[in-house]
Amino acid sequence: MHFHARAAERVRNPVLQKALQKAKPLFVGKRAKGVASLADDGLDFELLRSTAESIRNRVLADLDVWLDIFETRARVSGAEVLWARDGDEVARLVVDIAQRYGVTKAAKSKSMLSEEAQLNEALAAAGIRPVETDLGEYIVQLAGEAPSHIIAPAVHKTIGEIEALFAEAHGRPEQPRTSADIPAMTQEARAVLRQHFLSAEMGISGANFLIAETGSAALVTNEGNGRMVTTLPRVHVVVTGIEKIVPTLEDFSTLMRLLPRSATGQTISNYVSLLTGTRREGDQDGPEKTVFILVDNGRANLLGSAWQDMLRCIRCGACMNHCPVYFSLGGHAYGWVYPGPMGSVLTPLYTGIENALDLPHASTGCNQCGVVCPVRIPLPKLMHGLRETQVERGLRPWRERFALRAWAWVARRPALYRWLTRGAVRYLRWLVDGSGRIRVFGMAPGWTDGRDLAAGSGKTFHELYAARKRA
Ligand code: SF4
Repeated sequence: MHFHARAAERVRNPVLQKALQKAKPLFVGKRAKGVASLADDGLDFELLRSTAESIRNRVLADLDVWLDIFETRARVSGAEVLWARDGDEVARLVVDIAQRYGVTKAAKSKSMLSEEAQLNEALAAAGIRPVETDLGEYIVQLAGEAPSHIIAPAVHKTIGEIEALFAEAHGRPEQPRTSADIPAMTQEARAVLRQHFLSAEMGISGANFLIAETGSAALVTNEGNGRMVTTLPRVHVVVTGIEKIVPTLEDFSTLMRLLPRSATGQTISNYVSLLTGTRREGDQDGPEKTVFILVDNGRANLLGSAWQDMLRCIRCGACMNHCPVYFSLGGHAYGWVYPGPMGSVLTPLYTGIENALDLPHASTGCNQCGVVCPVRIPLPKLMHGLRETQVERGLRPWRERFALRAWAWVARRPALYRWLTRGAVRYLRWLVDGSGRIRVFGMAPGWTDGRDLAAGSGKTFHELYAARKRA
């Protein structure tokens, strides 16, 4: 995943840094207001979190049963239900359906699972044009990039970069743009996308939740594209993970108190749609064919394991919106579909711990992610667990393992420990330059490559503690 190399590159990119620094306070401020607004309805955030946690745990405890119920209800309402073991199988199934129905163009609304399956590439290889219709996804598709955030895919782009993409794709000269032009640029994209909605034979969407008792997919969006994609084309394919099940509509409404507030700070998203079955007699719109593709891709392995808590995730993005590491680097540094703290746990679990060694270490340990997660996923604890697994499996570099062993050996000998730490803090004090900071750390130069260090007092904790006690 080359996280270190990607991170170094991103930290030095001034355009990216400008875009990230602008976005972060918006996310944090809006969520804080959204959570505070619960009190207006007489609701308690912590109580709701506990309820949401238990709803998700209840599903995971009997996932096979809930999936079975969902499948039965979805079939009764006219939908077809297919199962996919991995991303390749998803791609094969979708291409197969598209070919059966003579599809030449597929309009897509946001689906992280289609990113897991690299569905756009598979469709294009089969001669079917995939068109992303969520505005952020449309922008990153024009740029030939992957989304960098799960709810704001183009958060890393500045207005100037988007203008350049639109000018080229829409065949017009580039103009100087400011934030006042955002509505005009959105209208421009809307006019282009409308033609795609009308001409696509297939719509592909994800699902925020699958409701077992009704066999429905719940779609929660802020853009009308979700409804266009799921009702205008003849065929609608829902691609989603098996863990997205909730038992009842009432459970769904409880989770909906938390999802928009945690994601964007809204009391409710602009469009909340429940999609059940196919077009019925007398319906004005709706697909003739609805197919659910329920995907495992590593999820079932987490059931009953030390990582099961991660399956509670409702993809709100709050953990990354509050993560100092995410907002220093942006999502592409994480190297796969899911960025931020949730990605630091999910990527190693879904792609193999040995393939994403750096990610569980991409954390300051501040626990902001754990505090804001609406379903109480203990993200820092899971990251620590992954680090432990790396050590147990001998996957860490020998120098790191040697250093930790040496530290453990010294820490069991208090006199030696004190003597060495006394020497170390004095050495650090000696490194302080005229500015009062440490700018070059000779023994581990990586520490001061991108930042300086504050000067310590030149005394160990034990020395300071003893002095204070004496005083
Ligand atoms: S881990 Fe928690 S905070 Fe992060 S996206 Fe999932 S539900 Fe939201």
